[in-house]
This record gives sequence, C-alpha cells and structure tokens, in this order.
Amino acid sequence: MTAKIISGREVAENILTTNLKNKVIELNKKNINPKLIVILVGDMKASASYVAQKEKFAVKAGIESDILRFESTVTEEQILQEINKINNDNSIHGVIVQLPLPDHISVAKVLNSIDPSKDVDGFTPTNVGKLFLGEDTLVSCTPKGIMQMLDSTGTDLNGKNVTVVGRSNIVGKPAAILCLQQNATVTMCHSRTKDLDAKLSDADVIIVAVGIPKFIHGDQIPENCIVIDVGIHNIEGKLCGDVDFESASKKATAITPVPGGVGPMTVCALIENTIIAAERIG
Ligand code: NDP
Repeated sequence: MTAKIISGREVAENILTTNLKNKVIELNKKNINPKLIVILVGDMKASASYVAQKEKFAVKAGIESDILRFESTVTEEQILQEINKINNDNSIHGVIVQLPLPDHISVAKVLNSIDPSKDVDGFTPTNVGKLFLGEDTLVSCTPKGIMQMLDSTGTDLNGKNVTVVGRSNIVGKPAAILCLQQNATVTMCHSRTKDLDAKLSDADVIIVAVGIPKFIHGDQIPENCIVIDVGIHNIEGKLCGDVDFESASKKATAITPVPGGVGPMTVCALIENTIIAAERIG
C-alpha cells in the first residue's frame, strides 16, 4: 500500500485563506484588528525561520503581526516588563515567546506572566488546566493542528485506538487529551515504555513526537493506520521527521510528510488562536 499524504501545507492554506480570512474581515468591520506579538530573544537560525513563517501566515489571514527582538543578553526582568506592557495593551490580542530562551531566563516564569486571554500558544497553567477540564480555551498549537489534520482526513476518532509516542507538555500530553475528548482510547508511550511495538500494534492512529530522527519504521505500523509525524530534524541539510517516511509510507493508510505536515498546521493554529483571542477580547 502507498499512503495518502496528508498535506499540512494544503490544509493550512485552506483554513487561512477561507475560514480565518473571513473571520478577520468580520472583526475588521467592528474595528477589531487582530494583532500578534512574537518575542524573539537571540539570533538562533531555526527560531528566525519559524518566526518568518508566522509572519507569512499572518499576512495570508489578514492579521497584524510584529516581532519584538532582544539580544541574548536581555534580562528576565526586561522580558517580564515587556510582557506586562503587552498584557495591558488593548490593541494586542496574542503574544508568544519563541523558545528556546537563553539559560539565564526562566521559561516557566516568562510563560506564566502572559495574560491567559492573550496566551495564543496555550502554554499557561490556566489554559492547560482548562484543556484538561474540557473547558473552552486557547489550545496549544501543535496538538490543535494535529487534530485539524486528522479531521481533514474525515477520521472519526470515536472508539478508535490512538497511540501517542512522547509525553511533552506542548505536544504529547495535550494531543492525548484532545483525542480522549473525541472518545478515542489513548495509549501514551515515553522513554520508559516497555515493548513499544506492542503498544503500536493495534493503533488506528499513531502520533509521534519523540525528537529522534526516523525513530518509527514501517514494520512497527499496523494495517489501516494513520501516522502523524511531529518531529522535525535537519540532517546534513535535509529535513526529516521522527518517522522513517520511506518505509512508513508503504505501510500506513495516510501519513504526514516532513516538511509540509505538522509544521504549517502549528503556525496556522497560532494565527487561528490570535483571531479567537481577538473575538473574545474585542
Ligand atoms: P520533548 O523532547 O519535550 O519530548 C520527547 C518525548 O519523547 C518525551 O516524552 C520522551 O520520553 C519521549 N521519548 C524519548 N525517547 C523515547 C523512546 N526511545 N521511546 C519512546 N519515547 C521516547 O519533545 P517535543 O514534544 O517538544 O518535540 C518532539 C519533536 O517534535 C521534536 O523533533 C520537535 O522538534 C518536534 N516539534 C515539532 C513541532 C512542529 O510544529 N512541527 C512543534 C513542537 C515540536 P520521557 O518523557 O520519558 O523523557
């Protein structure tokens, strides 16, 4: 079998240029102009390229976005002051802090200082807690994008087996919660999991976020399975995911590519969250 490729690039383009653009037009009529601020510290090449993609997608949906750049020597206090200003600025609806941050700055302290109503990355304890409780909230972007991609395949998760490999706070755990909310039976795997192959063997959907290049291979994927590959790695100038695409795409029913899979969906979800925040804040 050759897998159907789930193009995050296409799904994202469609959401941005139809749904989201229309929502922005409606907000503009009420004199609300959704605005996103990205705080960028230092000059990491990967961070700069993610930020560039965020700006490009903001333009597609018709929202405003700005980058606040700081030298890597910036103090934690300066960042906290800047976030405080943003929290109190009614013209700004969403703020994210591009990670990683230099070691002298506490990520938890910085993220916790963001007003949850402007936390469009969905990382604050308030928004994570609401997600856990099944309340309406700003859902973190990568898991949100994963669910939209699954939705684009017409998959009904009700009663399906989903195996999530990786339990990070930003991908694995929220993805598992979202699948549970859609009545999937979720198996969470991590570095201490015994016999990973057995946990994968009856999966209808496998979500892989381990941060190890080509970690999952085709021979670990059961029949009729959808594979979502969250990983992204640059190996000698060539991008690949946490799944060995070559072997996995021969086995899976559908699979996300790297690049062009989860990455664009994550950025699209960020823009969507900014629009949702603007709708709520006004
Ligand atoms: P983390 O490093 O935070 O978490 C990795 C997880 O994988 C941990 O839970 C770890 O287990 C688990 N793990 C590690 N080794 C194994 C193993 N041998 N078997 C099973 N599980 C294992 O990663 P993230 O979730 O932040 O990111 C994962 C990948 O996704 C990275 O490549 C990252 O770059 C990418 N990413 C891509 C995004 C996108 O938009 N495309 C967004 C976010 C991330 P344990 O908890 O036990 O240590």
